[in-house]
Amino acid sequence: MSPKAGWSNFTKQIIKRLTMINAFLKKLFFYFGLLSLIRRFYPRKNLAVLRYHAVCLDSCNYATPTITVTPEGFRNQIRYLSKHYPILDLDEAVEMIQSGKTLPPNALAITFDDGYADNYGAYKILKDYGATATFFITTNCIDDREIFWVAEVQYLILMTKHPSLQLLIQGKEEAFSLETSEARKAVVSKLTRIIKSYTIPERESLRTALRSALDDVHPLFDGKRLMLSHEEMEEMIAGRMKMGGHTLTHCNLPSAGIEAARHEIAQCRRDLESRFYTKVTTFAYPNGGANAYFNDEIKALVNAGGYLSAWTSKHGYVDAETDWWQCPRLAVTESLVELIYLMEGDRLRTDLGHS
Ligand SMILES: [Zn+2]
Repeated sequence: MSPKAGWSNFTKQIIKRLTMINAFLKKLFFYFGLLSLIRRFYPRKNLAVLRYHAVCLDSCNYATPTITVTPEGFRNQIRYLSKHYPILDLDEAVEMIQSGKTLPPNALAITFDDGYADNYGAYKILKDYGATATFFITTNCIDDREIFWVAEVQYLILMTKHPSLQLLIQGKEEAFSLETSEARKAVVSKLTRIIKSYTIPERESLRTALRSALDDVHPLFDGKRLMLSHEEMEEMIAGRMKMGGHTLTHCNLPSAGIEAARHEIAQCRRDLESRFYTKVTTFAYPNGGANAYFNDEIKALVNAGGYLSAWTSKHGYVDAETDWWQCPRLAVTESLVELIYLMEGDRLRTDLGHS
């Protein structure tokens, strides 16, 4: 082994050990009640908005593990959160902050992006604990009327028996190896990134090419419905859940072109309101992450589209100073301890760090 590789291995080992100690300390803080003490004696005054996507088993093949929480993990989180935090309706929490009212201490709201069918199971869990949430819906994909492109790309590439894939990317023939599961994951993220930079017609033509290249994968998603049905959404709304906009087709708004973006934003709200007889005031920008997924022009379109707030994947908390067209949220993973440590630890780090 070269000295350079040896040093890199040594550093990796140290980081791994530190992460393990850190995880151990977090558990210690949690189980010995230190985090509860912080929450009780040094309560948070702003709003924490949790961001979930899919609630499915680790092995689910339509969403990456980074955006999934298992049903068991979700129940565990909601059981704890509903006991120790006031869970507010997001619309009402926004209205309270915007009208200058004081939030209850440690207030939080729960959101889900995309509108996966598994969110119906999450709704049942929320209902068991008297909690509420807002579901940001990709409206053309309700009932799988259109196939949710992010999941389709992942499913086709992970499930095909083909060892490789050839596609025309921006006029150039490109070959992708699908020999190993790591290679497949890398292809999923590369193609997803490419599609995010496309207009809607460009995205659709790449999808068509992908489907015909990987035509051994059938049916999609093991023949199960991927996204929420109209009936499930009606039941959820009747059960105190709220719906928010997440565009018509999960396009990347800055790449779509101004007219397409305007339509995707405004029509999404109109569809939800006219089909479900419900008021829709919140919007979440799709395709959050390292890429540009909103900008000032897009923010103005959401404002003009009849919404009262727009939510990002940026990390942070909401108060009267928040820019309502780029509200931050907290990404949630499987671990309850990590979530509670994040919320209580963030406050100490920020507040004590500034004093
Ligand atoms: Zn999304």
